[in-house]
Amino acid sequence: MKKVKHFIDGEMTASVSKETFPNVNPATGKEFATIARGDAADIDAAVDAARRAFQGPWSDLSKAERLDCLVRVAHGIRARSEEFLKAEMKDTGKPRSFAAKVDIPRGAANFEFFARLARNTEHTSFHTETGDGRGALQYVTRHPLGVIGVICPWNLPLLLLTWKVAPALAAGNCVVVKPSEETPTTATLLGEVFKDAGVPDGVYNVVHGFGPGEAGEALTKHPDVAAITFTGETHTGSRIMEACAPHIKKVSFELGGKNPAIVFADTDFDAAIDGTIRSVFSNTGQVCLCSERVYVERPLFDRFVETLASRAQDLKVGDPFDDDTDMGPLISQAHREKVLAAFASATDAGAEVVTGGGVPDLSGKFKGGSFVEPTIWTGLPEDAAVIKDEIFGPVCHIQPFDEEEEVLAMANDTRYGLCAALWTRDLQRAHRVAAGIEAGLVWVNSWFLRDLRAPFGGVKMSGIGREGGVHSLNFYSESKTVCVKL
Ligand code: NAD
Repeated sequence: MKKVKHFIDGEMTASVSKETFPNVNPATGKEFATIARGDAADIDAAVDAARRAFQGPWSDLSKAERLDCLVRVAHGIRARSEEFLKAEMKDTGKPRSFAAKVDIPRGAANFEFFARLARNTEHTSFHTETGDGRGALQYVTRHPLGVIGVICPWNLPLLLLTWKVAPALAAGNCVVVKPSEETPTTATLLGEVFKDAGVPDGVYNVVHGFGPGEAGEALTKHPDVAAITFTGETHTGSRIMEACAPHIKKVSFELGGKNPAIVFADTDFDAAIDGTIRSVFSNTGQVCLCSERVYVERPLFDRFVETLASRAQDLKVGDPFDDDTDMGPLISQAHREKVLAAFASATDAGAEVVTGGGVPDLSGKFKGGSFVEPTIWTGLPEDAAVIKDEIFGPVCHIQPFDEEEEVLAMANDTRYGLCAALWTRDLQRAHRVAAGIEAGLVWVNSWFLRDLRAPFGGVKMSGIGREGGVHSLNFYSESKTVCVKL
């Protein structure tokens, strides 16, 4: 059986403990590889390699040479994109229609984007009055932090990993990555790409394994790791924050969400339906930006619910490798249990199940997969647990509303604040509601439309800090102000 190893100091290595755990294809439920199970000893080796690379070969290169390395990594991913695509589909069960458009191209683009951005960053300077007529020159330079710990989730494995690794390296750091235990393969393949691209050993290291008490926690506690960049669940974020506290490590957190979509009666109906189908069901609802709460102005409510349900019923659920598949399985049987528990909790709370609510009847090898049906509910009170808690599955609740203030209050009545989608033709209202929404990102008449230069991140319990463009480069570096009396 295939073995997925760590990538430390330019070499594929087994765990010091020799421990492994299974890699399961969520579409079939079958184990297809074993994964090295890292612990503190492997993290020590990886951090040591990263520290040596930072103190030597990586910092010895000129900035232009380092950024050229990143461009070669982007080319390397593209040259092997079919291999990356298949690996990502097998690890996650995500359909080709999504991964080929989003995960793999964005993985390569992240390296090119941050290489270009870092090449063009400018230092700032100020001329300061000193009262004696001579003045002072203040200039600000930016410096890498050293070794960055990168902890990733399973929903967009290569995309989110490269979204962190590319700016960290572009800013001059070295990294130790702990991919999700569910999705190890593309992080490891990327090690081969780094090697082939001629990047010095130790710049990019990967240690596989679990979080609490194992590789993930060891990375967060390591004294030589200067910062942790983490995407995952909110409660994991709190654990990591505690682990980082003793060394006052810098943290960047992209956490959970319970995102609202608000549809006003004046909307372009077809666009709102198309957008909401994407925002609820893309990647089987396993995108942090997915809408799990949909609010529809009452005159449009019945028509919207009926049309969205009929479109959800048309989604083709099944084989990720089939070009026509719209929705693959959830990431694992354990996650399916969690989503099915939410389905049960919704019906217990009095939901009307407009469509779905169960497990699709798939035949053959997909019988053992962790599939659920695309699901839509109505009729729940706003304080129901499934309206409050992130489910991270292909499901939404649709609630009618009458007034703008009423819907804003419902949309904001959550401990999360990642994003929102508004659907309206009224430009003034769009700006007004966008201003009132408590979230880091508001889409108007669109969803998941990203510009890598724009700040990305959540408010409240959806995160700390912003990624994207110069915001990422600033997180992965510290400024130094030099004041020269003239
Ligand atoms: P998770 O928090 O369970 O795991 C994420 C990573 O953290 C994994 O690599 C895991 O091994 C590691 N980990 C777990 N406990 C740890 C600990 N104590 N110390 C160190 N590492 C630890 O999240 P997940 O289930 O992989 O991902 C789904 C979650 O991620 C959802 O809540 C989703 O909303 C969120 N997410 C957020 C964004 C965003 O941009 N805000 C993007 C994608 C996913």
